[in-house]
Amino acid sequence: MILTLQTPRPLSRLPRFLPFSTNASITLNQADSLDRRIAAGEDVGPLAGVLVAVKDNICTADMPSTGGSRILEGYRPPFDATAVKRAKELGAIVVGKTNLDEFGMGSTTEGSAFQVTANPWDLSRVPGGSSGGSAAAVSARQCVVSLGSDTGGSVRQPASFCGVVGLKPTYGRVSRFGLMAYASSLDTIGCFGSSVADAGILLHAISGHDRFDATSSNQDVPNFLSHFVSASSFESKPLKGLRVGLIRETIGDGVDAGVISAIHSAASHFEELGCSVNEVSLPSFSLGLPAYYILASSESSSNLSRYDGIRYGNQVYADELDSLYGSSRANGFGSEVKMRILMGTYALSAGYYDAYYKRAQQVRTIIRNSFTEALNQNDILISPAAPSPAYKIGEKKNDPLAMYAGDIMTVNVNLAGLPALVLPCGFVEGGTAGLPIGLQMIGAAFGEEELLRVGHIFEQTLENCRFVPPIIAEDIAS
Ligand code: GLN
Repeated sequence: MILTLQTPRPLSRLPRFLPFSTNASITLNQADSLDRRIAAGEDVGPLAGVLVAVKDNICTADMPSTGGSRILEGYRPPFDATAVKRAKELGAIVVGKTNLDEFGMGSTTEGSAFQVTANPWDLSRVPGGSSGGSAAAVSARQCVVSLGSDTGGSVRQPASFCGVVGLKPTYGRVSRFGLMAYASSLDTIGCFGSSVADAGILLHAISGHDRFDATSSNQDVPNFLSHFVSASSFESKPLKGLRVGLIRETIGDGVDAGVISAIHSAASHFEELGCSVNEVSLPSFSLGLPAYYILASSESSSNLSRYDGIRYGNQVYADELDSLYGSSRANGFGSEVKMRILMGTYALSAGYYDAYYKRAQQVRTIIRNSFTEALNQNDILISPAAPSPAYKIGEKKNDPLAMYAGDIMTVNVNLAGLPALVLPCGFVEGGTAGLPIGLQMIGAAFGEEELLRVGHIFEQTLENCRFVPPIIAEDIAS
C-alpha cells in the first residue's frame, strides 16, 4: 500500500490531478502505528491500510484544512472530523487533502483559491465540483476511496464527471462534526469509490449517531456489506419485483441527447434484471434550483460570518475593529463566496425575507412531499446525475447562472434530505475514449442499504463498460 505513495511517476506525470496537500511523514506515521497495532495482535479493522483522501473542508488533525479558501490558508485543526476519526479507527490511512471549490460553493473545483484540478478522462475538462479533487483522486487511482461533502450535489456530480461511484447519505446518517459548515440543513458527508462496494464499505465505517452533532440520527446502521456478494451468486432476475421510477422531468429539454440515451439504456438494463420501470412525474422538480440557491446562500451567509479574522481565519491587521473584519473578509474570500454571502444576506433581510427565504422553505416542503409520494409508488427513483458530461475548463467559470443550472439533477435530493447513489452507466463522445455518464438512484430516507444492494447488482451486471481513464490504465499497465 505504502509503496504507491512513494512511487513518484503517477504524481509527476499527472500533477494536475493531485489536488492534494499530502505530507508523506504524517501518512507514514499512520502506517507505522497501524503496523504496531498489527504486530501487537490487535484487530485493526476492515479498512486496515486503505488509503483515503479527504476533501479539504473536512478537518483532519495536524493536516492543513483550508476549505479551499485563503482565509484558512495554513490552518491545521487539532482534531479529526468524526467521519475521519471513525475511518482511522478502522485502520484507514489518510493520504492527503483534496481540492474543492471554496467552502463547497461551485460545480467545477475551479473556485478553489489554490489551483485547478483536471479531469483524468480529459485534462482539458473539469472534474466537477465541489468535491472534484476527491472524485479525480479515486478516478486516477491515487487513493482507494475518498470523502467528499454534498450540499447540493457535490459528491454526485463529480462522481458522474469522473466515472466513479458517489454516495450521498440521508441527512443525519453521518455526523457533520468537523465538516466546515456551508448550508447546515443540506450538508452531508459522502463517499467516493471505484465500485459500489468500496463506497458502501466507507459509508458503513463513518455512519451512525455522534454526540458532537445534534442532527446526527439515532437510526441503526444496517450491515450494508452483506449485499456485496459475487456476481456468480446472482439469480437470473436478481432485481425481480423492484419498482423503478424514471423521473420524467430529468430526461427532457436542456439535457444532452447522449445523457438521455445512456439513461434509457440504464432503464433497459434494470428491466433485464427483472425490475418494472415506469416514468414518474415530479412537477415541482424545476423549482428545486431557485429554492436551493436561496436557502444555501442564506445559510452560508450566516455560517461564514464566523470567519472574521478574530474568531476564525487569517487576519488582515487594521487600526479599527470594523476595518479589521472588513479587510480580513475582503482579502480572505473569493468572488463566488462573496456573491453567495451577499445573496443570502439579501434574502434574509427584513424587507425580503417573506418573498425569498420563507417562500423557498415552502417550496422545500412541496418538493419533499412530492418525493414521498413518488417513493410510495416506487422503490427507487432514477435520473441522470448531471445534464451533461464534464465541462471544459473555463467554459462556465464566468457564467454563474449556467453553472447553477447544471445542478438541476441533484439539488432536489438535498432539499428532501434523501440518500442517492451515483454510478457510471455509459459514455458519450469526448476526450480520447469517451466521457463517462453517471446514473443517479434515489432512495427513501435511510434506505442506503437498498440503494447499495441494487447499485451493486446493476454495476456487476453492466457489460462492456470499464471506467478507468485511458491515461491511468496505461500508467497502471506500464
Ligand atoms: N454546486 C452546488 C453549489 O454550489 C452544490 C455544492 C455542494 O454540494 N457543496 O452550491
